[in-house]
This record gives sequence, C-alpha cells and structure tokens, in this order.
Amino acid sequence: MEERRPAIVAVDDEPVVLAAVARDLRRGFGERYRILRAGSGAEALELLGELKKRGDAVALLIADQRMPGMEGTEYLLEARRSYPEAKRVLLTAYADTDAAIAAINEVALDYYLLKPWDPPEEQLYPVIEDLLTGWEAGSTMAGGGLRVIGHRFSSETHDLRDFLARNRVPASWMDIEMDPEARQLITIAGVDEERLPVVFLEDGGVLEQPTVLELAERIGVANQPAADHYDLVIVGGGPAGLAAAVYGASEGLRTVMVEREAPGGQAGQSSRIENYLGFPAGVSGSELARRATDQARRLGAELLSINDAVALRVEGSGRIVELTGGAELSANTVLVASGVSYRMMEAPGFAELTGAGVYYGAAMTEARACEKQHVFVIGGANSAGQAAVYFAKFAGQVTVLVRGDSLAKSMSHYLIEQITELENIEVRTGSEAVAAEGEDGRLARLRIRSGGIESSEDADACFIFIGAAPRTDWLEGVLARDERGFILAGAAAREHGWPLAREPLPLETSVPGVFVAGDVRSRSIKRVASAVGEGSMAVSLIHEYLASA
Ligand SMILES: Cc1cc2nc3c(=O)[nH]c(=O)nc-3n(C[C@H](O)[C@H](O)[C@H](O)COP(=O)(O)OP(=O)(O)OC[C@H]3O[C@@H](n4cnc5c(N)ncnc54)[C@H](O)[C@@H]3O)c2cc1C
Repeated sequence: MEERRPAIVAVDDEPVVLAAVARDLRRGFGERYRILRAGSGAEALELLGELKKRGDAVALLIADQRMPGMEGTEYLLEARRSYPEAKRVLLTAYADTDAAIAAINEVALDYYLLKPWDPPEEQLYPVIEDLLTGWEAGSTMAGGGLRVIGHRFSSETHDLRDFLARNRVPASWMDIEMDPEARQLITIAGVDEERLPVVFLEDGGVLEQPTVLELAERIGVANQPAADHYDLVIVGGGPAGLAAAVYGASEGLRTVMVEREAPGGQAGQSSRIENYLGFPAGVSGSELARRATDQARRLGAELLSINDAVALRVEGSGRIVELTGGAELSANTVLVASGVSYRMMEAPGFAELTGAGVYYGAAMTEARACEKQHVFVIGGANSAGQAAVYFAKFAGQVTVLVRGDSLAKSMSHYLIEQITELENIEVRTGSEAVAAEGEDGRLARLRIRSGGIESSEDADACFIFIGAAPRTDWLEGVLARDERGFILAGAAAREHGWPLAREPLPLETSVPGVFVAGDVRSRSIKRVASAVGEGSMAVSLIHEYLASA
C-alpha cells in the first residue's frame, strides 16, 4: 500500500536542486520508497515527527549542507533522535568537502554526495542502492519472519534473539510482559507461560523452549557438509576466515568454512568499525559480515554455521576436522582462524545474570530496549568505547567503568573525542565492578569500587569488554601453541616439533598443511584489516603448499 512504503526524505532550500534530487530519487527508487521533500531542516523535522507518530518507516535522509537557518549537519543530528537507524547522506559542494568529512563523526554520516551527481546512474544510484540494501537488511530482520516470544531478562530468550540477529534471520521479538498481543498469541497456540521462550515459525510450526541448535536445524541455518573431501577447511568465520573463504573459492579451491556461532566473528559484533580501509564513514560489523558472507557464497565457498570444530587429526596427507555431533571434514589443508572469545567476569553475580541484564559484547539486540535507561559498559579498550558511543544513541545514561587511571592508554584518540562530546556518557576511571546483584531474576544493581570505596548503584544493563582469550584447547597436543594458547606459525613453529626438512611457510603451524590466520595466531595484530590480510595471504601460501605436496 502506498502509505506503508518506507520513506526517503530529501531537504534543500533551493527549489531547483530539491526538485532534481526528488526527481532522480523517484526515478531510481520510487517503486519501493516514497520520496518526500522539505524546503528547510525545520520543515523536515516536523515531517519526521508526523511520520514517527504514524509509525511510518524512514530509510534514508538526504540533506543539503548549506541551508539558511539550519545547516544540513545540524538537521541530520536532530533527525537522528527520531530515526536513529535511517541512513544519512549530506549533499555538498566541492568547497564543503572538509565540513562533510567532519560531519562523518558528528552526525554518523553514511555518505557525502558531491553536487552535481550527474549522471545519476553512476554517481547517485549505486550509492543510494547500497545504503538502502543495508537499511533493508536491518529492517527486515527486525520486522518480519519468525516471531520470538519470551521474557526480556531470560538468558534463553536472549540467546535465541542473538542467534537470529547475528545470522541475519528476519524475526520479530515480543516481550510477554510488555506486549498484549504476545499473550494472546500464546493463549491461542495453547502454550503455557512456563514454556517460554516460544518461536512461531513461518510455516506455522511452534517451538517451545527450543535450544539454539534445535532452532538452527529447523530453519535450515545449521546444515551438513555437501562434499566428502575439500581442498581447504577453514575453522572460524571472522574476518580472517571470511577473507580466506573469498580468496580460496575465487581461486578454484573446494572451500568450506565452519563457524560455531555466526559469520562475522568479533568484528560482526562491532557497532561501528571506523578504521577499515575503504569505508570513510565507518561500517557496522554486521554490515561488513553480511557483505563478506554474500561475497564468499557467491564465489562458491560453502558455509557451515552452528558447527563447532572439536578436534583435528592428521592421516597421511589428509587433514581431518571433527565437528560436534560427529561429522568429519576431510581436506588437503586446514586454516585455523578461530580468533578469540570474550573473557568472562569472575566477580560474584555476573555468571548467574548473563543474558538477564549482563551481556558480553555489544549485544545489539538489547540496544532498543535500553531507551532512557542507565547502562554500564565495563572496559577501557576500543571495543568498550565503540559500545559506549553506540548505546548513547538509545540509553538515557551510559557509565563506562575503567580500571586504569586514563582512557588514553587503551583507547584510540578518535573514540575518546567522540565520548567526550556525548553528554550522556560518563567515564569513571580507577573504578571496577566487584559484584552484580539481581532482583526478580534480572540485573538490578552493580557494586562498584572506586578509590577504595565501595558503593551500590542501580543498573538496567551492563555490557562487558574486559579482553579476550583464544579457545584452542581442542588443538592441545596437535598444534604448537604459546603459553597463552595462541597458535605458533612460521619460524616460531619450527622450534616445536616441525617434522620436515623444509622451513614452514610464514602462516604454517607445526603441522604441515595446517595454517593459522588472524587473532588466534601468536603475536598477531588484533585488527580487522590484519585478519583480512592474513586470511587472504594464507590462501596464497596454501597454493604454494599444494603445489609442492
Ligand atoms: C566489539 C569489538 C569491536 C572491534 N572494533 C574494531 C575496529 O573498529 N577496528 C579493528 O580493526 N578491529 C576491531 N576489533 C578487533 C577485530 O574485530 C578482530 O581483530 C577481528 O575480528 C579478528 O578476526 P579473526 O577472524 O581473526 O577472529 P574473530 O573475529 O574472533 O572470529 C573467529 C570466529 O571463529 C569462530 N570459532 C572459534 N572457535 C571455533 C571452533 N572451534 N569451531 C568453529 N568456529 C569457531 C568464532 O565463533 C568466531 O566467529 C573489534 C573487536 C571487538 C570485539
């Protein structure tokens, strides 16, 4: 129906330019989107207010920078309050490029478009299409498909929602305590409230208290290997594994990638990666993961999600990876790209309340529910800084607890600047959470020690980023590791049981034909770009290995 289509809102004070933008947008996107226009920032904000009241979706905001009264950046900043997920584009003249680049941080700009944008087929449509695809991926995920009904502060419900969001399965979520329709639905389906969470499938099926694996199998996310033997088995679907899948498949290797949770790895959980080359306005981790996964699949890599590698065996020239559930993958070569996992808080209360107000990582599924709430972020590194900036968009107050005496030692300068500018973020250095206290099965308070004094503070949610460690126990006795469990490669591996006369290749482990890339490698640089670099480099080395084997 006409009025339900999502909107694109264009703003310009010059009627001729506004008419031209609207005309081109209508020609490119008019079938899927309503193109709405306004002659000033104030008029557009009024329009957004009306759309919001009607519950209409807005996919994209496009505004000229030079407008009297309210500049484009000022308007986009205001507009972000009502439509934080809408993509934001600034129209600028060449002379205003500096202002546009500055606005990338200020208003979390997605793109700046130089005027004139002729021909639109080259300058306008590809950019807008790309942004709309990203917006659609987020909005379909939140809007349609499966329905999950449960209690917000139940770890089982959180795990199901997190799994669906990270695997990009379109699903909507209904809180039994807040949504009368949810209660009606479970009554009609005859589901006892004691049996929550429940998932209503698109085929009419109803799953009561499913595990993540049961749900994954039922909706076809967990699948079985298609072949008996591969050239390359990749363990881990973070940036390193995905890059290897893209290069492996595109260079003709029969490639399969096994991922325990969801493609994207740690990077998939980042709210905004700002330093990855080629994305001047930053890119969310889930968007990067979506692009990389699509790319790997398109080039012919096989992706097995919700599969955990539990053992590695060497049989002659074959390398065998065992999966949970007993399946085995046989291959000529293996790449271990299993990254690192969050370290857990050991203080009392945190384990019991995980998923019920206490979360590891940015847990994007919880962001909207934090509206007007007081959330705590624990940690002082970049991941904590990104999360604080992200949650500040939704929460009333964000308090960052940092053990050290300054952020400067552990966080990048650009993030410290962003945090300083946001009024609803408070950074408390020299502070640590020593206990989490619950009420009615959910987090209620944190006990915080600051300067030797302990106090209790009300907390609605707490997101933890206190470092990470490799989980490589399954490789014990097979691959040489350093004292912290990171895998040795190249010259370092040669000292630890390397069996051949030739030198190991640079990313080769102590077992010939088994390679390692990314964060799990001993002495690696913990960055998306270096993981991607190593993943792609590993494929060249694998070719070299195969050629000489
Ligand atoms: C919140 C956050 C924000 C970040 N922001 C930035 C940033 O802005 N810029 C930047 O450069 N870096 C950033 N980083 C760091 C960056 O994300 C990592 O360096 C990068 O993801 C490492 O990639 P990887 O592929 O080596 O490992 P990971 O990303 O850790 O991926 C490893 C994958 O392997 C899977 N796995 C593990 N064991 C197994 C197994 N046995 N079987 C099957 N699968 C397994 C895991 O589930 C995971 O998906 C951030 C990290 C975090 C946590």
